[in-house]
Amino acid sequence: MRPLVAHIRLNHLRDNFRTLKRMHGSGKMLAVVKANAYGHGAVHCARALTDLADGFAVSSIDEAIELRSAGIENPIVMLEGVFSAEEYALVDQYDLWPVVGNQWQLEALLAYNWQLPVKVWLKMDSGMHRTGFFPHDYAPVYQALMQSNYVTDVVKMTHFACADEPMKSMTADQIDTFDLVCTDLAGEISLANSAAMMTCPQAQRGWGRAGLALYGVSPLGGTDSRFKPVMRLVSQVFGERVLQKGESIGYGATFVTTQSTRVGLVACGYADGYPRRAPTGTPVAIEGVRSRIVGRVSMDMLTVQLADHQHALGSEVELWGDVVNVNEVAAAAGTIAYELLCNVKRAVRSYE
Ligand SMILES: *Cc1c(COP(=O)(O)O)cnc(C)c1O
Repeated sequence: MRPLVAHIRLNHLRDNFRTLKRMHGSGKMLAVVKANAYGHGAVHCARALTDLADGFAVSSIDEAIELRSAGIENPIVMLEGVFSAEEYALVDQYDLWPVVGNQWQLEALLAYNWQLPVKVWLKMDSGMHRTGFFPHDYAPVYQALMQSNYVTDVVKMTHFACADEPMKSMTADQIDTFDLVCTDLAGEISLANSAAMMTCPQAQRGWGRAGLALYGVSPLGGTDSRFKPVMRLVSQVFGERVLQKGESIGYGATFVTTQSTRVGLVACGYADGYPRRAPTGTPVAIEGVRSRIVGRVSMDMLTVQLADHQHALGSEVELWGDVVNVNEVAAAAGTIAYELLCNVKRAVRSYE
């Protein structure tokens, strides 16, 4: 069996949830477990948070039903709402909270004959311009929902485009837009993703929606000691050799030694979700000591530099986790931690 394991520390997940809830203030908090909990396993993560989370957030009806089928009874928000009008029957059956972000979702919701009362999350497009009602259309839509006999509450929500870039004024502008429209609209609100909880005090109210930071990774890049990485992706050195000066390694022969170099072969590649674009120099940790990748990442393997006299066969290699922050690997590969975590596959997930 390949030695690639994603250790998932559920106690870290719980600690991060508490930390974020404290940072967010008095409001409630959704744990965002979409995309299989950012690659960490949605059912395991949700089960670990049932007594803490005020609700969960997913991206589709399938993800919601997966949680319900596993016995999760907390509220579940569907962040993108339904993808067809027929899905409202399942939203009703499984007692879910749909986001409504456009006209057809609204009309289908109002036309559906609900068995259970429904709590709707009404999305405003305050500047992201992917989905949501424009500010000038928002109040009439809110009123239409409030007048429906089926709708118990409307949670007013919006999403920020640049909360991870606190120097930009965009988040403040989005909040101003949102507040202006909502002045006379009663009920709960939801503004903050992880980054806004960290950077934007004006967004720390209502329902927080904690994603990346919940998994112990800062959306601002780098390492933030307030959060504990939940995933530790580790493998092993299963081959080693000494290359003489001037020899190349791997596809494309892109890396050429400048001196005699000890190289270890690690069971992890891009078919496991490790980014192929991670260049020579991308950090790894071998038995807790930082080293680097040399040469190109292959489908099932990658190669790392070993210390000169290190006998490394069987050594543990941390691809990311505690010594190497996943943000470092993402930066080296020209992407973001979100993508790397969501992409992890083939690795055995071990829950601890
Ligand atoms: C994914 C998502 C979040 C969580 O974002 P993070 O940056 O991971 O905290 C919050 N709100 C919405 C609408 C989302 O789609």
